Amino acid sequence: MTDKFLPFALPDIGEEEIHEVVDALRSGWVTTGPKTKQFEADFAEFLGGGVEAIAVNSATAGLHLALEAVGIKAGDEVIVPTYTFTSTAEVVRYLGADPVFVDVDPVTFNIDPAAIRAAITPKTRAIMPVHFAGLACDMDAILAVAREHDLRVIEDAAHALPTTYKGTTIGKLGSDVTVFSFYANKTMTTGEGGMVVSANPDIIKRCKVMRLHGISRDAFDRYVSKTPAWFYEVIEPGFKYNMPDIAAAMGIHQLKKIRRFHEQREAMAKRYDAELADLPLILPARPTHAGDLHAWHLYPVRLKPEAGIGRNEFIQAMADKGIGCSVHFIPLHLHPVWRDGYQLKPEQFPVAQAAFEAEVTIPLYTKMSDADQTRVIAAIREILGA
Ligand SMILES: *Cc1c(COP(=O)(O)O)cnc(C)c1O
Repeated sequence: MTDKFLPFALPDIGEEEIHEVVDALRSGWVTTGPKTKQFEADFAEFLGGGVEAIAVNSATAGLHLALEAVGIKAGDEVIVPTYTFTSTAEVVRYLGADPVFVDVDPVTFNIDPAAIRAAITPKTRAIMPVHFAGLACDMDAILAVAREHDLRVIEDAAHALPTTYKGTTIGKLGSDVTVFSFYANKTMTTGEGGMVVSANPDIIKRCKVMRLHGISRDAFDRYVSKTPAWFYEVIEPGFKYNMPDIAAAMGIHQLKKIRRFHEQREAMAKRYDAELADLPLILPARPTHAGDLHAWHLYPVRLKPEAGIGRNEFIQAMADKGIGCSVHFIPLHLHPVWRDGYQLKPEQFPVAQAAFEAEVTIPLYTKMSDADQTRVIAAIREILGA
């Protein structure tokens, strides 16, 4: 083995980001300030306007703020897919509410609207769709169920920049709140970070207050002309979820590159689709409606039984060839905290369980060269004896 290790994911950070971060450092203003304000404005504009965007230090923090702002409290139930990262469910617990786990669609691995309907009880208050891998959920069906039962919708859009659904950008679909992630391996990064997006001014106002210790900026602003600058009032036991300008400095330039990043990701996905088509693999779901854009955060494949190799052995064989792979996701119903806490059994989630057992996510990121992708394809073909 002469090639060096090809990691599963890498961020794509250029000189523009580096200069902007240095500028923040030299400016003397390193926490939330002008760069965060600019990043928020740029982000809202990127989505097409008509929404406000507030930057936070992670998508997990943003999801927590969103649920708090729509009034989720102890004893409430919030419907989440089992096929997601633990953040989606843990934030429900932060508020003393209970996540209710449901199965996913066998083609897209996105939350199944019929399963949502079946899980609704008198305690249900909200639904949290996750746009798996960057392909939009069936939002028309989800928003219809929500309207029918007066439920809030908080989209976990950690994978979904710049996803569109039937021509509309995720973040503008009319759900209550949408939350994006800028974690290191997402389609753009600020190291750690997230963005809370809503068209509802009350929700935005609440998130802004709770993002920074429950300090009432409005009260502060109202009295600022009459009172010295040291004065502020704390109106709630809030959180410490603001994004520092050092991170926003990266975000400003990552966002400017998101279209290019997306074109590269899409071209790579197309190449995998073409060059893996004849193998005993189920390739990722493609958009089905006109106006759907897949963000291609992930390229998840499933091994068919006739591949003659198990998922774990396949990942080991790839690692032996110096290629990192991952699994998305280990469903929440298999993690001890959720399995034991809510007595969850794999039989309740047959689609997610089967998907998990056969799923491998292969490398797809903009720092990969054509030669890197050739190497991944050759390794897969060799392992599958093609
Ligand atoms: C990455 C991820 C998150 C969490 O994002 P952070 O910014 O790391 O908090 C939440 N949900 C999903 C589906 C994710 O993949």
